[in-house]
Amino acid sequence: MPGSLRSRVSLALVRKQLPGLMTADPAGELPDGLHVAIVGSGSPLPDVKRRNPCAAVIVDGKIFVVDAGEGASETMARMQLSPGRIEAVLMTHFHSDHIGGLGTVNLQRWVADGDRPALPVIGPPGTDRVVDGLNEAYALDRGYRVGHHGPDLVNPDTGAMDARVFTIPDGEDSMVVLEDGDLTVTAFVVQHPPIEPALGYRFDYRGRSAVISGDTNYSPTLIEAAQGADLLVHDALSTELLMMVSEAARDAGLTTRAQILADVPDYHATAPEAADAAREAGVGALAITHIVPPLPLKGLEAIFLADAEERFDGPLWLAQDGDLYSLPSGSDQLERSNLIGRR
Ligand SMILES: [Zn+2]
Ligand SMILES: [Zn+2]
Repeated sequence: MPGSLRSRVSLALVRKQLPGLMTADPAGELPDGLHVAIVGSGSPLPDVKRRNPCAAVIVDGKIFVVDAGEGASETMARMQLSPGRIEAVLMTHFHSDHIGGLGTVNLQRWVADGDRPALPVIGPPGTDRVVDGLNEAYALDRGYRVGHHGPDLVNPDTGAMDARVFTIPDGEDSMVVLEDGDLTVTAFVVQHPPIEPALGYRFDYRGRSAVISGDTNYSPTLIEAAQGADLLVHDALSTELLMMVSEAARDAGLTTRAQILADVPDYHATAPEAADAAREAGVGALAITHIVPPLPLKGLEAIFLADAEERFDGPLWLAQDGDLYSLPSGSDQLERSNLIGRR
């Protein structure tokens, strides 16, 4: 019967693919350099194309995760980024879209390699509260897994995350928060009121540099921190498109939703403002992420960008989930690819 033939063919195809899926390890195959993977390029608004914010910076086979929105570990799995390679998580701030996937990211890392020390979660004050809360929320789950698989497979001592809180001194806009070999990670203040502090991160490694804005308005402190970087990953929204959605909500009688949407432009840059920041910082390329609102039709991308491409001369992209921006050391190249669906 055609149905059973289809089933047998499907089974054969999956069986053929499984060995490759099991051994895939793109993070381990990258050339020496700084590699920025966009895990989630969306926002809290439901978006079939883009999950909540998360980036993964890969250096020397180590993955440094910046924020972990809902869907982070699932998308990392689709990108074949092994959770066992996660070295640390860095938090920009604690809006729900940036922390919703943190518990699962930690769980996946723990079961992938429980012999590693507990996952460091590095961030501003508040990191400890979020980590303590998630550790407690996942305490029963950890107990189930130790009971089911045994302590030799899942180490009961390393399953809870390890909060590492830093405070940027008064009067300062930035500080080095992590050094690992030739990698230096610098946190810097951005403007995302009323959230204090809201941070971005700059990564420097062997002459290459990348900056992740976190959530911010057009921000002079970001422009200073991003000076001369090879790549700027900046959040952005379209006021025009968001207001259209807000007005539709108001017309439908959804006044609370309409007002919440109308408040959002207060604390995110537009794409032209992100382009201004990129130009003023003198960066090599700009990837726009945290895209608000969703862009279900390709034709909306030009409206979202408005005149951003006229304001910044370098390459400018709307990031997509799975994008990988590679900055090999010893060169000035930027190579762009996408890790989802690669074979
Ligand atoms: Zn935010
Ligand atoms: Zn956000």
